[in-house]
Amino acid sequence: MDRIFNFSAGPCTLPLPALQSAADEFLEYQGKGMSLIEMSHRSKEYDAVHHEAADLVRRLYRLPDHYKVLFLGGGASLQFSMVPMNLMQPGGRCDLALTGAWSKKALVDAAKIGTVNLAYDGSDENFMSLPDPASLAAGSGSAYFHLTSNETIGGVQWQRFPDTGPVPLVCDMSSDFVSRRIDMSQFGLVYAGAQKNAGPAGAAIVIIREDLLERSGDHLTAYLNYATHAAKDSMYNTPPVFAVYMIMKTLQWLEEQGGLEAAERMAKERSELLYGAIAGSAGFYRCPVKEHCRSVMNIVFRLPDEQLEKKFVAEALDNDMSGLKGHRSVGGCRASVYNAMPVAGARTLAEFMDDFAARN
Ligand code: PMP
Repeated sequence: MDRIFNFSAGPCTLPLPALQSAADEFLEYQGKGMSLIEMSHRSKEYDAVHHEAADLVRRLYRLPDHYKVLFLGGGASLQFSMVPMNLMQPGGRCDLALTGAWSKKALVDAAKIGTVNLAYDGSDENFMSLPDPASLAAGSGSAYFHLTSNETIGGVQWQRFPDTGPVPLVCDMSSDFVSRRIDMSQFGLVYAGAQKNAGPAGAAIVIIREDLLERSGDHLTAYLNYATHAAKDSMYNTPPVFAVYMIMKTLQWLEEQGGLEAAERMAKERSELLYGAIAGSAGFYRCPVKEHCRSVMNIVFRLPDEQLEKKFVAEALDNDMSGLKGHRSVGGCRASVYNAMPVAGARTLAEFMDDFAARN
């Protein structure tokens, strides 16, 4: 099989060694006469996977002891409900930075639980910019301050985060999880759908500061209560075992590459190649996002017209580069370059961009 360069926004390309290793042991796991996904989640084999996956998250981020790592079903979208249900009392208040399509979804769900104050509203600038974090503050009486570290569709990414004092900072880190060094102690809660940098779809990784578990009230049903999952180490119910196993394989690969420092370096190299191709095209390609907040994970760009965009996506596919069509809600093109995208993939795309611009 010839693997092609897959620029999909998620699910997306995963490290070949992780896939290969999973394939090698798929039919029979550790000589047990069955696949890991056929085993009880209470088996010692799965237990080891489960804890190693959580430990990898801890090691990569050098997570302080008073944070818990949870693996939950429902993807990142379930967290849009669980965060307000657990952290905010019904009828309470929270702050949110509205920076694009994904923070909008977090906003809509939170607004069903309490009042959401927009600490920042980027709609006037069509979500192509981000504020100076120092200009933001949490309101008094706010239960938490929510932001989306990387808007996967719009291609804007926070470089630094606001200091919200005693009000916990909550971050949807779905599309830049484990891609850069971050001091996790500035957050009360971080969540991420696994299907970009961390593994397959369906599972969410939640990192929660232990004291916040006290907010989860008894009125919540069992699954929707963080305290349930924290008390049982994400084994209250059958965890998404295959997803957790692939998260372990993916993060083991990342650790072998040199962890978050390596992830950050590779992300810089890939994104510089692509933004460089845009900047060097004499206006043929245009990135609508303000320079100071351009994402190193999702590089969005436009061509002179939609016909050319279609042609670009089709010709790229003919050249073994897939997934370059922008999100259906915004159009244009988007190259998602997560951890597992080799720098060579970004270089190949940048060269193709130069060539396509010259020919068109
Ligand atoms: N937040 C962000 C930033 C995302 O990119 C996505 C998925 N693309 C989600 C939330 C939703 O994730 P899921 O599909 O796992 O629910």
